[in-house]
Amino acid sequence: MKTLLHKKHYEKLLKDLGEEDKERVKRALEFIEEKHAGQYRKSGEPYTAHPIEVAHMLLELDMDITTIVAGLLHDVLEDTDATYDDIKERFGKEVADIVEGVTKLGKINFKDTEVHKAENYRKLVLAFSKDLRVIFVKLLDRLHNMKTLNHLPVEKQLRIARETLEIYVPIANRLGLWKIKTELEDLCFMYLYRREYEEVKNFVGKSRKELEEYLKRFFIPRLREAIGQAGINATITYRPKHLFSIWQKTIRKGIRLEDVHDILGVRVIVGTVQECYLVLGVVHSVFTPVPGKFDDYISLPKPNLYQSLHTTVIGPKGRMVEVQIRTWDMHERAEKGIAAHWAYKEGGRAKDSGIYSWLRGLVESIQGSKNPQELMENLKLELFSEEVFVFTPKGDLLVLPKGATPVDFAYHIHTEVGNHCAGAKVNGRIVPLNYKLQSGDMVEIITSPNKRPNAEWIKFVVTSKAKNKIKSALKELERERYVELGREKLELLSSKLNLSRETLLEVLTKESGAKNEEELLLLLGSGRVSKERVYSLFKKPKEHKEKEERLEDVLNMDGLGSVLHNLAECCTPLPGEEIFGVISRGKGLMVHSKDCPNLQYVLKNFPEKVLRVNWTRSEGLHPVKIRLLVRDRVGILAEVTSTIAKLGANITEARTKSLPSGSAIMDFNLQVRSYADFLKVRETLQKVEGVESVERVMG
Ligand code: MN
Repeated sequence: MKTLLHKKHYEKLLKDLGEEDKERVKRALEFIEEKHAGQYRKSGEPYTAHPIEVAHMLLELDMDITTIVAGLLHDVLEDTDATYDDIKERFGKEVADIVEGVTKLGKINFKDTEVHKAENYRKLVLAFSKDLRVIFVKLLDRLHNMKTLNHLPVEKQLRIARETLEIYVPIANRLGLWKIKTELEDLCFMYLYRREYEEVKNFVGKSRKELEEYLKRFFIPRLREAIGQAGINATITYRPKHLFSIWQKTIRKGIRLEDVHDILGVRVIVGTVQECYLVLGVVHSVFTPVPGKFDDYISLPKPNLYQSLHTTVIGPKGRMVEVQIRTWDMHERAEKGIAAHWAYKEGGRAKDSGIYSWLRGLVESIQGSKNPQELMENLKLELFSEEVFVFTPKGDLLVLPKGATPVDFAYHIHTEVGNHCAGAKVNGRIVPLNYKLQSGDMVEIITSPNKRPNAEWIKFVVTSKAKNKIKSALKELERERYVELGREKLELLSSKLNLSRETLLEVLTKESGAKNEEELLLLLGSGRVSKERVYSLFKKPKEHKEKEERLEDVLNMDGLGSVLHNLAECCTPLPGEEIFGVISRGKGLMVHSKDCPNLQYVLKNFPEKVLRVNWTRSEGLHPVKIRLLVRDRVGILAEVTSTIAKLGANITEARTKSLPSGSAIMDFNLQVRSYADFLKVRETLQKVEGVESVERVMG
């Protein structure tokens, strides 16, 4: 069901096209009629009125046929069941890519945008402009939506108008699309600042007629005459300044509306640059120039390559009038901006080089700029080499360094998302985790609670956050593995040594200096405390039964608490006597008597190996060797042995040897409970008649 208006749109669109282009456009029209069937704009018009109007505006901008077809199709991906492949198959890849780009732009969630980030979003939008035609379609889509905004609820009107002013107006300006820019600005002005808009509009409405009259009757005839006399062929027009810029001027200069004099500007268009300056001379000779009101944008173009001479003069009757002087080339560029370089009419293929030379010109034009910030901004516009702009499935924007992967993305969202990243989808398709994200990608991370970071990831991530988080996650994983391994080893040792797990844990924790059970398990698991070492600590040689008793002695190292130790065989220290520990490799701590000659040797040569230790507890019997020198007489051996027995010491071995001098040496291996017992034995024996000396034997 086509309305009359709708039909008019059709005719308007097809009117100016060649036969071949007409055919393509007709096919696109049929396609959207089918796809958007049953859909209506808020205005009540069939939905297709909107894309047809967008396409028509693109046509007026002299855009190529590909862009016009894309303009017709620009909403089918978003609003109908048509797919990228459908479009590609019917209308080619270029059209499909543009439509896809426009659709992506439409999904950008601007509504939470803080104003100070607006520049990022502008960059983002331009980042899509690997094919700038996406921007043209989007801008005209926005322009038509702004023109039909009155059908939407007020809240939406405000949101869309604000977004347009913050994002799309600066882009139109940057691309030199003056007409689109000013139209958008006035529409935004109307919705956002209704009261001020009405004020400016009323003022312009009142003064415009009178001003027009003035220009037509007094100013332009005088100017035309002078230019004619100079022999220059010029077109002289006048144009109303747009409302938004008048309002901006009152704010910028702090003046009242009544003091804005250039509501209508006069424009002189000539053939050559030389003629521009000639006309300037003529203008200044006929009217008095206002000091400080001359700008030469020909020798110093604006960043968007706008060129013209601007001057304000005092005309007849003392009124100030602004005059703009430019060539036809400059005029076309001022009206259409970058689109003016879209030389499709000259035969298609040249269009890209046109764009790039325009961009190059843009960059070159500001290289002399004293404002490095602006230079950077413009360079980025062309290059965008440092960043990619990607989206979460909810439409939130993330800015990541170029080369970033889904893993970088995952860690950017949350460490836990990164640590459990199992896979990724980009634009709905599964990609490898080392896929390099492209601007506009919609990235979805698939997580799994069992998934853990992979050491391979470090090789391809580019953000330092991801790198650091992966490293620490890997460390933690290794730790967990070792602790688990340690737990297994402990069980094994506990059953092999026939010791309870708790005993083993307690002793080993102390022995290794581990702070807690987990740390001990880590030491065991990683092999820093070896099985062999544990065996050597607990396996006692079976042939020395008495030593088992000695193990029950508990020593205390200064400041270090209880320690595992061995009592030295050479001196067999006794509980209660002054002792020292000697650190010996492989044997642990060997405990010597203070009087031991071996200890003396170590103390003298390796004092750093000697530690002071104290007895804390002692049980059982301890060996000690003594040697007696006696005058040999009948019964003396019996008397000595009975004395020893009476004191409660055991004799485990006794040897006697008579000396030629008539004396004898008696060697006894005794067992006593403590050093005090030994002293008692020695003291008592010394009192036995015939005993010359009693000595402890060491070494
Ligand atoms: Mn649209």
